[in-house]
Amino acid sequence: MVDILDAFGAASGPERLELVRIGATATMVQFFTRDGDRGRFHWEEDPTVSSYVLCPGIPCPLCFVHEAPTDAHLLPVLAVERKAVGVLMVSLARGPASLGAQLIPHLRDEGIQDKLFLLSRERAKYSVEVHPLGERADRCLGTIKAFTTARDAGLSLLTAFPNLSAQELADVPRVRAKLDALGGWTPPGA
Ligand SMILES: [Zn+2]
Repeated sequence: MVDILDAFGAASGPERLELVRIGATATMVQFFTRDGDRGRFHWEEDPTVSSYVLCPGIPCPLCFVHEAPTDAHLLPVLAVERKAVGVLMVSLARGPASLGAQLIPHLRDEGIQDKLFLLSRERAKYSVEVHPLGERADRCLGTIKAFTTARDAGLSLLTAFPNLSAQELADVPRVRAKLDALGGWTPPGA
């Protein structure tokens, strides 16, 4: 048998991914794999960034001004509304209200692809609601296959984050203000 999508080149997947943002309004996602990436991140609230950014490691300007990074597991999920694969960030911080603690029992479930997840958050308190996937739900199998092909070819889940070097992070206005106030940060290679 031959998959018609292969013949039409639909298997060329995305070059970069988007972060799935979780807020007060529930975000619908479907899980299809447990194969993810790991990273260490800072939340950068400066309006020019307004995103999690990858900690560039020493000499990270954000670590230097005492902003603690968060270790997180990244998992590809199907973002139902966009019908696209996005990246879900699951902090490795534990606790009953954490996203990870609530997802783990479901991620062990062999029938997870038949379930719909509604994820929401009030501050650091996550809610996970699980429903059987509706009969008419679009499982977006072509989209998932294209993602898997791109992933096998080396697509990183880190493409969902701005790729800023230590120097570029130091030049973000909010960070620059803190670095200048504290003094003593040495840019890489200086
Ligand atoms: Zn850092």
